[in-house]
Amino acid sequence: MKLFCYAVLPVEKPYITAWAKENNVDVEMISDELSKDNATLAEGFDGVSSEGITPVDESVYATFERFGIKQLAIRQVGVDNQDLAAAKKHGITLTNVASYSPRAIAEMGVTQAMYLLRKIGIYQQRMAAGNFAWDESTISTEIFNCTVGLVGAGHIGSATAQIYSALGAKVLTYDPFYDAALEPYTTYADLDTVLREADIISLHTPLLPSTKNMIAATAFQKMKPNSILINMARGELVDTGALITALKNKQIAGAGLDTLADEIDFFGLQKDCQETPSDYQILTQMPNVLVTPHVAFFTKLAIKNSMEIALNDAKTIINGDRSHNTVN
Ligand code: NAD
Repeated sequence: MKLFCYAVLPVEKPYITAWAKENNVDVEMISDELSKDNATLAEGFDGVSSEGITPVDESVYATFERFGIKQLAIRQVGVDNQDLAAAKKHGITLTNVASYSPRAIAEMGVTQAMYLLRKIGIYQQRMAAGNFAWDESTISTEIFNCTVGLVGAGHIGSATAQIYSALGAKVLTYDPFYDAALEPYTTYADLDTVLREADIISLHTPLLPSTKNMIAATAFQKMKPNSILINMARGELVDTGALITALKNKQIAGAGLDTLADEIDFFGLQKDCQETPSDYQILTQMPNVLVTPHVAFFTKLAIKNSMEIALNDAKTIINGDRSHNTVN
């Protein structure tokens, strides 16, 4: 069997190479994302895999069909750049990797919450300026004395609930779908209760029309002044302007953000400071805010799992079987 992999990062190569050896499959890799200009490189291969954000048009699937290729294994969650119906029309089964390591993202959220809870950014900024003092503004709270409010408890929210619960925190969850398996770790509540009672509010919902800007001025008005907002999910869940106002007005105590609205043009790229949007600059300069460039997923296990799940799916479909990761 021969597979062609597009959009392979240097960090992914060793995992793909190890999988290829273990599965006795020949794999060729390039770093470029799949596009209509390079789809013909897959000629002579049994299957294909890719990731990335560049939109893929129907001609790509038509090219694969011509080469007798029956699948395209996407090595990430998002398939927004794919045309699911067009792929189906050309007999291409698309698979994604819906969950590769929920713990990776959950642990990043908890890490940021602990950093903010203990005011580490404030101490760092003070100490860099020769100020070794502490005062009533930097007094902290132990995590086991906190109430954590989760908004969304699917793969990542559930893992987050388990970690906070193991640390002794009280965990409240708002999710329209009830999961009995989470009962040992959390108490379900409505969104208002979560916002009003939580010391740490952690967002884990998908970006949907119903969740866009769900955390805006009215939500910040409900939150406790000592509360911390953690967003490891999607930037657009939060109204960034309202967040900055809430931080400036001390309506909340801090924010940990692995994702920001409109990040696609910035995160993962090297940019000149002048190009950075003003709201990014304001947030990254606040000592009670942490911004990371959408790297909560970026652990060795997550990379290994996403490579293996996608390539196993490619093999499964080439062998004529079905995959539960099929999206079209
Ligand atoms: P999931 O689909 O497993 O879970 C999402 C949960 O949100 C579901 O339980 C769903 O019922 C709930 N939900 C839907 N609408 C809601 C609403 N209005 N209010 C409250 N809950 C609602 O998703 P997941 O894999 O846990 O991913 C969660 C988020 O994390 C997504 O936004 C995803 O894009 C993001 N993510 C971020 C990273 C990263 O590196 N930062 C990596 C992977 C995923």
